[in-house]
Amino acid sequence: MINYKTYLVFLFGSLAFSIGIQLLASYLNWPPFSGVAIALAVFIIFPLVLRNRSIKRMGGMGSDAGVGGGGFFGQNQGVRYICLACNNRYKGGMCPRCGSKMKRADF
Ligand SMILES: [Zn+2]
Repeated sequence: MINYKTYLVFLFGSLAFSIGIQLLASYLNWPPFSGVAIALAVFIIFPLVLRNRSIKRMGGMGSDAGVGGGGFFGQNQGVRYICLACNNRYKGGMCPRCGSKMKRADF
């Protein structure tokens, strides 16, 4: 998850970045607002990259929105699950001890 502090760092970082882009744009005589457009694009893209990264680190837990490709959740070999029926910790599709598919991810 992106916490508040990371968000603030990102916010001020991108603020400085957009100011830098403005300076660069005026220095290079780019058309008006091209610097703003680039800064805006970064503003939009960077949070998406951050979010995708945090989703991957979490092993697909949380919101599934934006994760392309089905079956991502089951293919991640690094994720362990805890069986909801018998609390067995295991990897893979279903609990080897009791066969239950009711599970939650363990991090
Ligand atoms: Zn079980």
